[in-house]
Amino acid sequence: AREIHLAARPQGWPTADDFRTVDVDLPDPGPGEVLVRNTFMSVDPYMRGRMNDVKSYVPPFALDAVMDGGAVGEVIASGADGIAVGDTVLHQAGWRTHALLSAKAVRKVDVSHVPASAYLGTLGMPGMTAYVGLTRIAPVEEGDTVFISGAAGAVGSAAGQIAKQLGAAKVIGSAGSAEKCAWLTELGFDVALNYKDAPIGRELREHGAVNVYFDNVGGEHLEAAIFAMADHGRIAECGMIADYNADNPPAGPRNMMMMISKRLTMRGFIVTDHGDATSEFYRRAGAWVADGSLTWRETLVDGIDNAVDAFLGLHRGDNTGKMLVQL
Ligand code: NDP
Repeated sequence: AREIHLAARPQGWPTADDFRTVDVDLPDPGPGEVLVRNTFMSVDPYMRGRMNDVKSYVPPFALDAVMDGGAVGEVIASGADGIAVGDTVLHQAGWRTHALLSAKAVRKVDVSHVPASAYLGTLGMPGMTAYVGLTRIAPVEEGDTVFISGAAGAVGSAAGQIAKQLGAAKVIGSAGSAEKCAWLTELGFDVALNYKDAPIGRELREHGAVNVYFDNVGGEHLEAAIFAMADHGRIAECGMIADYNADNPPAGPRNMMMMISKRLTMRGFIVTDHGDATSEFYRRAGAWVADGSLTWRETLVDGIDNAVDAFLGLHRGDNTGKMLVQL
């Protein structure tokens, strides 16, 4: 089995030297354990924060130890009741080709209608993040105009489609290429803005007042959104990827004063605090997937040896839809 360790805490943009590839031998599973061959592992922007030694909502990755994160795989040996060889399971032991896990640490997933990889994307944590943001944090109301940044990513692409299902009249998305914007239009976004073509603030101004902003990016996007918000607008603060690799993050939006005059609400959230929404999410998302109103794309990077590059690719915008490593 092969795994990726954190060798050093990155300063600014991570480099290959911050990681180490290690080969290990795994024993056979004991009672209550399963051996899993991972088929897909997730790379996610939040992992950048875990590479720093700071107190946050998840503990930092330990140095000189295997990293972790969402993964799906096939059970290849089992000492656990109720889990058989051949079952597909979802778990948190990513960044490695194989994992020996307690049966309690894995969840069997149904792959009869959707591929296993969907549980790392639209039918997993990113999809749930989009759903929680638009139902619990900045609830979409019938007729709203909704703006989503990072719209061609895993969370953003789900958010745009979910906003429509929740009754948004107009969904505006921003992304970093013409190809991504074309995909957003296919997904049903009414407006797709390429923020690399023109300053996002100028582009957004053309499209009317925004009731709900789902922020994945922060920085200039957040400032542009505050300018564009309608009175009593709601901002779901989900992520600020534009600043994750910044050594010295820039000062915040210059127009925060508008929070007052426009009576805006801005609320940050962490998806894992909202486990009570899980069954509702699966029921509704499952129905939307079944009727074709919730679809997705994946960008697949091949092999554990390219996992670090896949992670870095998130910060370069290499992915359309969910970024995954196929193992
Ligand atoms: P994505 O699939 O959206 O991948 C990241 C995307 O961000 C890239 O494809 C890129 O697209 C865009 N991006 C990167 N750098 C910049 C930049 N400087 N300015 C603008 N866009 C940039 O990742 P996820 O869907 O997994 O995550 C999206 C956001 O949601 C992240 O901020 C993440 O931290 C957050 N998140 C928060 C959770 C929570 O509980 N609060 C849970 C899960 C995710 P482009 O080509 O368009 O630039």
